[in-house]
Amino acid sequence: MKHLLGIDELDKAQIMAFLDKAQSYSEALSKGDWDKERLRGKIILHLFFEHSTRTLTSFEMAAKRLGADVINWNPETSSLTKGENFIDTIDTLKSMIPDAIVMRHADYGAPKTVAARSGCPVINGGDSWREHPTQALLDALTMKQHFGKIEGLNVTIIGDIAHSRVASSNLQLLSKLGANVRVIAPAVLMPQKLPFENIEKFESLADGLPGSDVVMTLRLQKERMDRALIESDAAYFNEFGLTLEMMDKFAPKAVVMDPGPLVRNVQIADDIAEDPTRSLILKQVANGIPTRMAVLDILVGD
Ligand code: ASP
Repeated sequence: MKHLLGIDELDKAQIMAFLDKAQSYSEALSKGDWDKERLRGKIILHLFFEHSTRTLTSFEMAAKRLGADVINWNPETSSLTKGENFIDTIDTLKSMIPDAIVMRHADYGAPKTVAARSGCPVINGGDSWREHPTQALLDALTMKQHFGKIEGLNVTIIGDIAHSRVASSNLQLLSKLGANVRVIAPAVLMPQKLPFENIEKFESLADGLPGSDVVMTLRLQKERMDRALIESDAAYFNEFGLTLEMMDKFAPKAVVMDPGPLVRNVQIADDIAEDPTRSLILKQVANGIPTRMAVLDILVGD
């Protein structure tokens, strides 16, 4: 495997190879004992055309923990603002021969276009609503650490399924590893087609939550909606926002996850987001580092 462009192109064995390596980095990080020279001499170029907190920072930390150098290119201070087009920008940057590119872009398939021209490994840090493979891997690592398995887990994803690349990558990864996956969304945010036929669809928390082991909330991706699909944040929260009360009533044993950013009191209430016994949200953030170390190790290491 040369690039990591999406979960769609990985089989179960390849997903497990990433997860096993991520688990070993997770253990190594807690002991302070890993090969800190693994990527010494490599230069990784970060091309983030969209904003990011967790993904960008954890890719940078992962690279530096492995001894690589990182360049954070910034579209807002680049020649794109002078009229240079995307392809010329990519051809310019690739001529400097980075050892890998990690990129995020709003356009469908942009990392694939770059992979075809770059000559180095390209890692997708999020493209459009299509894929966010390292998020799905770190989510799976978090579930596996908590439950000891993925197969057979009942995972319910609530929110803007239609516009979420996190939903898209997670639905594929979890289905490939044998979890039972459900989605809950208002009809306007439910895609017509889901990647696997056995993913169950629900339009209310009361119908979709019972039996869940994991409940994952997602942000309303307003930047990808071409018009207002939701009456108001308050109306959405009222019907689809996850609260402690709804969890206690319909999924009392489940844990809660969210890829962030948390838009509090729209997708998730403070009380459940901060519940120390049930929220794995900060664990997900922490797991971004060993997961991205694993991906860089496998794709960029000699
Ligand atoms: N951070 C995630 C992403 O980049 C989720 C989000 O932005 O809502 O897709």
